[in-house]
This record gives sequence, structure tokens and C-alpha cells, in this order.
Amino acid sequence: MRIALALAVLLSAGAADARTVILNANGYTLDDIGRLAKFSGLIVGDDGRVERLLKPGEKADGDVVDAGGRTLLPGLIDAHGHVMGLGFLALQIDLSDTTSIDQALAKIASYAAANPDRKWIVGGGWNQVSWGLDRFPTAEELDIAVADRPVWLSRVDGHAGWANAAALKASGITAKTPDPAGGRIERDANGKPTGVLVDTAMALVEKKVPPPTAAENAAALETALQIMASVGLTGVHDAGIDPATWVLYEQFAQDGKLTARISAMAGGADALRAIAPKGPTGWLFEDRLALNTVKLLADGALGSRGAAMLEPYSDDPENTGLMIIEGAKLRNVIAAASMRGFQVNVHAIGDKANREVLNAFADIQKMGQPLVRPSIEHAQILAPDDIGRFAKLGIIASIQPTHATSDKAMAEDRVGPERIKGGYAWKSLVNSGARIAGGSDFPVEPANPFYGLHAAVTRQDRDGQPPKGWYANEALTLQQAFAAFTTGAAYAGQQERSVGTLTPGKWADFILVDGDIFKMPAGDIWKVKVLETWLAGKRVYMRD
Ligand SMILES: [Zn+2]
Repeated sequence: MRIALALAVLLSAGAADARTVILNANGYTLDDIGRLAKFSGLIVGDDGRVERLLKPGEKADGDVVDAGGRTLLPGLIDAHGHVMGLGFLALQIDLSDTTSIDQALAKIASYAAANPDRKWIVGGGWNQVSWGLDRFPTAEELDIAVADRPVWLSRVDGHAGWANAAALKASGITAKTPDPAGGRIERDANGKPTGVLVDTAMALVEKKVPPPTAAENAAALETALQIMASVGLTGVHDAGIDPATWVLYEQFAQDGKLTARISAMAGGADALRAIAPKGPTGWLFEDRLALNTVKLLADGALGSRGAAMLEPYSDDPENTGLMIIEGAKLRNVIAAASMRGFQVNVHAIGDKANREVLNAFADIQKMGQPLVRPSIEHAQILAPDDIGRFAKLGIIASIQPTHATSDKAMAEDRVGPERIKGGYAWKSLVNSGARIAGGSDFPVEPANPFYGLHAAVTRQDRDGQPPKGWYANEALTLQQAFAAFTTGAAYAGQQERSVGTLTPGKWADFILVDGDIFKMPAGDIWKVKVLETWLAGKRVYMRD
């Protein structure tokens, strides 16, 4: 009797909370076997899941939302981003658009005035060349903008930092401070530091910058979630978090504030032990947060020649880069995590790092230890013989299409005309049967997934360069790229049963956008604007 009554109450509560009906949409989704399907409407159950897709002319009862003929897509998923980094960068002062030092100083002064509680003013993006200066800026100049607290601003390339007098003082940098190995303190004729620190000397100030407060962390996460919603991301795989970040994510999830589903990767084996001592968490909070994965770093990056190459760099014949973890150590970490049921995602950029990680995954499988959806993050430069091994070993290639179009000139300088053929080789990977997942590596690149779709299909930057595409033979079809940012990313996040397509039973995570990507010229895809973002049948973003 009691049970029946409770059930009746539940049912009536459900009925009162009407389902949402989206009508008059130009809808696209992949279906459960990867074909592109069209629909004109969507019924969202009061549980936030897709109840049914509607055909043209079909009507249904509920709270009707008229999509006005606009294009409706599944929410996009970024398979490799850095959520807190995105938020912090957005909250910091950004000087990349300044064209004179006076303009920069004005911007710094107004930022300081608007942020009176910040003990340090931190930011970056400056470039004295864009200011028309043939010298570095000075602490004295920076003091004109802010003198009451330390200011520390990194140069656009990250290889120099600009401090004011208070920052130099807080860091104990005086005329007597020697230049550290691998770095330089800019000085005047008398040896007095002038304010700019180069390379390793930057650490003298960086170690004094106080860690963000709890309020600053929360503000960064809030900002990152807003940015993601505004570009149509309903999911992200956060590529390496620490235990404190996990606690913050849990808080946001508990408070119902996570407007994107986060598959967090623990940043290394220690973070993994601290965050998830009992094993993978599975998807928590109605599939909004999970830690099922550990992220490892096999090598560095191509730009700084830290990526590990089988042969020396074409533009640095003595240098083959550096492995960060390899051999028995790499195998032990992967095996231990896999044994406990974790997915292992390993960053590998150079062809040597990629080969070593493929070998490690293969060795562990040979030992009889199954791997949980192993992934190579970036898979940037591959030796031709290694491309087919992704499919053979069941390893996901987690790719960032905008890296190719941003890095193209640099990458070709680093590896030369022959090896570049195995670079950013997405089509070859797909043709070999490999699963790919699409991402951006934000904030290294913009978070906007339409930039990624555009780069993947055109192999051009957003200025349309090069006109025929950079090694256009490695471009994906739009459907393949769309799959990488939906079903491919969902698979890599162990959530393909709940998101990635708009099919009955999955979460109603979708976006309304201002253009039809499947009809417009490919060169325009990056211009698409997201008008609305919905998560679990609730609108979480609306463009004004
Ligand atoms: Zn990354």
C-alpha cells in the first residue's frame, strides 16, 4: 500500500514536470552505427534524456521550444583540454592584443583597479616587437601602471617575464643575484636588474607567486564552464588534474553547477592514488563527473624540441628530444593502473615517444593484462610503420586538429619534408581502422570545437592558409571530424552509452547553432556561432 502510494506520488510528480519538445529544427546526429541521421525535432523526457526524434511535420505535446529552423547538433565533446587552465587564462590579464607599451600599461592599470583583492597581478601575451620597441620593457615602466603590489607578465612565447619593482623585491632579485644556468636577468650598465627575466631566470619570480585562493579557483572553473557552454561543448576530458581540482569539481557537481560533463584524467600516478584510491569512480552525479583515467607524459612538445624523435631534429641535428618516462618504468605504471581498471592516456608527440608507448601497450597486452581503452594523446608525429598499430592494438588516437594548422610551419622545420608525412596523419589513422577522438588542448588553442572541425576538414588555418590545405591528403571528411568530436570522444571518455548521439535514452545534450555545417563551404565552419547549449534537457547557455 505504502509502496503503491509512493509510486503514484512519483508518477504524478513526473507528469507535472512536462517533457520538453523541440520543434522546427534542422537536426543532425550520428545514429548508433555511425550513420548521419536527420530529424526536425526532439522530445526530451522529464528525466533529461532523449525520448524520441521527430520527423518533419510531426508534433508532440509538452513545453514546446521552436528552434526556428536553426541547426541542432549533439553537444560537442573536447577529448583533450585543460579546464582550470582555460579559466585562469581568461581571468588573467591578456596583453596579446596591445600594439604599444602605453596601451599595455593602461590595460594593466585598469585591470589592477578592477581587481583590488588580487595580491599579485599576473598575466601575459606581451610582445615588444608588436609595440614597435627594439628593447625589452622595464620594471620602471611597469611601475607607472602598478606600484602597490607585484606584477608578473610572461612574454607571448613564454620564454621571458616582465616584473615590476615590487615583484623583483618580493623575489629577492638584486644586482647581486647571479644569472641562473639556462637563464638571464636583464640588467642596465651598472648590473641593476631592469625587470625582464629570460628562460630559467623566470622561476625566481614564479616560485613567489602565491597559489590561487579557493575563491580564485572557483572563479576560474566558473569562467571555464561559461566559455565551454558558449562554444557548444557539453563535455570535456580534462587532461591531467591534481587532487585539489577533483575536490572542486565534486563541489560544483554537488551544487548542480557543472554545465559540462568532465571526464577527468588524474595527472600522473601519484594524483591517481590520491584521488581514486579504490579504483575508477565511474560516472557520478548523473554522468557529469568521472575519474576513470590516468594521464602520463612520455615526452615534451615539438616547438621547444622536447618531443622525442627517432632521428635528430631537422633544424637541430644534435638533438633528438627527450623521453620523460620509458622502458620498465613506463610499463610498470601502465600495468599497475590497468590492473586496477583505469584507462591510461599517454601524451606522445615525437615518433620515438609514440613508438615507445605503442610498444609498452603491446608488451602489457602480451603479458595477458587487458588495457582499458588506452589512448595516445596527440599522436602527432608517427613513423609510417606505426600508423597501423593503433587499430591493431586497439589504441585511441586523441588528436587536436587545430594544432596542425597552428604548428604547420614550425612542425615542418622541426621534422623536415619526409617525416612530416607521418605528422598529424588523421586520414591515415582513420583509414587504418583506428578510433580517433577530437580535441583542442585548450587553452593552448581556443576551446571552440568548430575551429577543430574546420581544421580537420580543410587542413587550413582560419586565414584560409595554405589555399589547398596543408598535406590535404590527411584531411578528414566532415562526418569523420564530427564523429571525432561526438561519438569518438564519447568512446574515449567511456560514456558512449549516455552521450555523443541524440538517440533515445541518451542525455539530451545538444546545441543550436547559426549555420548548417553540413551544407556550408568547409572554409566557413569555424565562423559558426553557438546560439544555445542544452545539457540533460536544460538550457545552460543562450547567446544574447
Ligand atoms: Zn594538453
